[in-house]
Amino acid sequence: MKGPEKQDILEVLKTVIDPAKGADVVSLALISGLVVREGHVSFALDVGQESGREKEPLRRACEKAIKKIPGVISVQIVLTAERQPKPEPELMKPSPGISEKIDLPTVKTIVAVASGKGGVGKSTLAVNLALALQSLGHKVGLLDADIYGPSIPRLLNIKDHHPTAKDKKIQPLEAYGLKIMSMGFLVDEDKPMIWRGPMVSSALQQMVRDVVWGELDILVVDMPPGTGDIQLTLAQKVPVTGVVIVSTPQDIALIDARKGLKMFLEVNVPVLGIVENMSSFVCPHCGEASHIFAHGGAKKIAKELGMAFLGAIPLHMAIREASDAGEPIVVSASQSDEAKAFVEIAKKVSKALLPGG
Ligand code: ADP
Repeated sequence: MKGPEKQDILEVLKTVIDPAKGADVVSLALISGLVVREGHVSFALDVGQESGREKEPLRRACEKAIKKIPGVISVQIVLTAERQPKPEPELMKPSPGISEKIDLPTVKTIVAVASGKGGVGKSTLAVNLALALQSLGHKVGLLDADIYGPSIPRLLNIKDHHPTAKDKKIQPLEAYGLKIMSMGFLVDEDKPMIWRGPMVSSALQQMVRDVVWGELDILVVDMPPGTGDIQLTLAQKVPVTGVVIVSTPQDIALIDARKGLKMFLEVNVPVLGIVENMSSFVCPHCGEASHIFAHGGAKKIAKELGMAFLGAIPLHMAIREASDAGEPIVVSASQSDEAKAFVEIAKKVSKALLPGG
C-alpha cells in the first residue's frame, strides 16, 4: 500500500493552529524535515524560544490530526529549537576581510580534541587531558561541544548541575578546578534534539562566546565525532590553536582519523598530533599488556603524514571505571601508569600550545 503523500500531510497540518500565535503550523513555518514513507510520517516541529513542555500540546494536536488521515500507520514528531540560539547578525553576514572567528580575549589557547568516529575515547581523552594540563600548572577550561552525545557532565559527576546566567552571560560550572560548559546541561538526555547544521553552529558559538570563561591558559574542546560539514563549521568559527586527533589502533578507525586530519589541514587548523587510545589491553589481574588490535598504527600514520605522535593510552578497566564513577583517572589515581600516560600527552600538548611556558 502506498499511503498518503507529503501534500496530504501538509493540508491537514494547515488546520492545526498554534494558539500562542493564532496561525496554523504550516503558515508559521514550524514544520521541517517532513518525510512520508509508506504510511510512516515524521517531521520536526520548531518550538523556537519556548520550552518543549509548553509546546507538547501542539505536538499532540499535529499527531492527532495526521493519524486521522487514511493510510497513516505511524507519526513521529520531534520538537526542535531551530531558531533558538539566534546567531548574532555579524556572524550571519561575515564581512570580507574580517575574521569570522569568535574573539576570546581572556582565553590564551584552544585545543580541540577530535576523532574520525565515535566511541574511540575522545571524551575520555578530553577530560583527562584537561585535568593533566591543569596538573602542569595551567588554568584550564573544558567545553563539551559533542552535542550529539554530551558526556562530559557524566564523566565529571556534575550531570544534575545547571549553569546560571547573568546579564545574558552563562557562568560555567566548576569541577576538579576546571571551568566546564556542556550542551548536556541544557538539553534533556532522554529527549534528544534533532540538530541541523546552522543550529549546531550557532549553539556552539553561543557556548564559546557567551560563557564567562575568565582568564584561561587552555580551553579544551571536546568536538563531535566525524568529519562532516558541522565539524568544518566549528573548525572555522572557533579560534582553535591546534587539534589533537584520537584514534584506536584498528585500521578502519585510522582511515577515519586520516579523513579528520585532512579536514583540519584543509581549513588551516594546525594538527598538534595523534593519540592512540586503547592501544594495548592491560589485564586487570596480572597487569600484562596484550595487543588485541594492531597496535602502533597511529604512530605509523603520524610518521607517514609528518605529524607528531603524542602518545598511547592503554585499554585499561581502571580508565573506564574511573570515568563511570565521575572521577577521571588523572585525579582519582594520579600515580597510576594510565594517569601518567595522559600527563605525558599533556606535556607535549602544552609545549605545542604554549611554547614559552
Ligand atoms: P567517544 O567520546 O570517542 O565517543 P568515550 O570517551 O565516551 O568515546 O569512550 C567510549 C567508552 O570507552 C567509554 O565507556 C569509556 O569509558 C571507554 N574508554 C575510553 N578509553 C578507554 C581506555 N583507554 N580504557 C578503557 N576504557 C576506555
